[in-house]
Amino acid sequence: MSEAMSELAVSGLYAAVDGHEILRGVGVTVRSGEVHALMGPNGSGKSTLSHVLMGRGDYDVTAGSVTLDGEELLGLPTWQRARVGLFLAMQYPTEVPGVGLEDFLAAATGENENGDEDGDGDLSVRITEEAARLGIPDEFLTRGVNVEFSGGEKKRNETLQLAVLRPKIAVLDEIDSGLDIDALRDISRRVEAMTHEDGLGVLAITHYARLLTELRPDRVHILMAGRIVASGGPELADQLEESGYDGLASELGVEELAVEGPVQRSTDEDPFGDPTAGALPFEV
Ligand code: ADP
Ligand code: MG
Repeated sequence: MSEAMSELAVSGLYAAVDGHEILRGVGVTVRSGEVHALMGPNGSGKSTLSHVLMGRGDYDVTAGSVTLDGEELLGLPTWQRARVGLFLAMQYPTEVPGVGLEDFLAAATGENENGDEDGDGDLSVRITEEAARLGIPDEFLTRGVNVEFSGGEKKRNETLQLAVLRPKIAVLDEIDSGLDIDALRDISRRVEAMTHEDGLGVLAITHYARLLTELRPDRVHILMAGRIVASGGPELADQLEESGYDGLASELGVEELAVEGPVQRSTDEDPFGDPTAGALPFEV
C-alpha cells in the first residue's frame, strides 16, 4: 500500500431529525485498508449515520465530531467532505435523468472534456476499465445515472463511482441489498481489491451477515437504537447470525433495538428516502 495512512474518526455523535433523536453517541474509527462492518436492525439509525457523515442537511447534529485525517467534517458541505476523501454509496441511489455517468464523474472529480486536472489518467478510459471489471454493459454508461437501473445495477454503478473517484474512506450503506450472489461477489471483490491496492478504508453498513462472507471485515460493530452496543471481530457477526438481533440484544442486556423517528417520508418528498416507504398499493 503506497498511499498515506488515513483515518476517519467519529466520536460521541448525536443527531436528530425533526426533533427526534436518532443517533445517541456513536463512535467508530476506520483507518486505511480496514473493513469495518456496521450491523443493526431496521430503524437502528444506520442510514442516518451514513447521511450525517456525508452532511445531508435535514439532520441536526447536536454533539460529537467527525474528522478525516484530523480535519473536522461537521459543518462542511457535502462536496467538501467528498474532496477531503469521504465517499457514500447510498442505500437508495438517486436517479439523475439527463446526466450520463461521465459528465457526472467529471463534475465530481473536477475533470472536464478539455483537461485532466488531477493528472491521474483519462476519465473515460478509467470509467470503461472499471465498467468492464464490474460487468457493467456500455449502454449503462450513456444513460442518465441510475435511470431505469435495477437495484443490482444501481449498486454496481455506485461501486464503479467509488472505484473511479478513489476516496480515502468509503461508507457503503447496504451495498448488498437487492444483489444476487454474482453481483454480491463482484462488488465485494472490487471493494476488497481497493482496500489492498489503494488503501481504501471501508465502513460497510448491512443488516445481513451474508455480505461479510464475501467482504471480510476486520471489525464488526452492532448498532441498536442509535448506539454501538458491541464491537468485536468477525465472530460477532457469527454470534448475531445465531442469535438474531433480538437474541443478541437480550444477551447484551439492551432493551431498545430501533429508534422512533418522525414518520418516514416517501421519495415524493425525499429523493434519498426508501422508494417503497409510504407508497400505497392502490390509487387514492
Ligand atoms: P436504518 O438504516 O438502520 O434502518 P434509519 O437511519 O433509516 O435506520 O432510520 C432510523 C429512524 O430515523 C427511523 O425511525 C426513520 O424513520 C427515522 N428517519 C431517518 N431519517 C429520516 C428523515 N430524513 N426523515 C424522517 N425520519 C427519518
Ligand atoms: Mg438503512
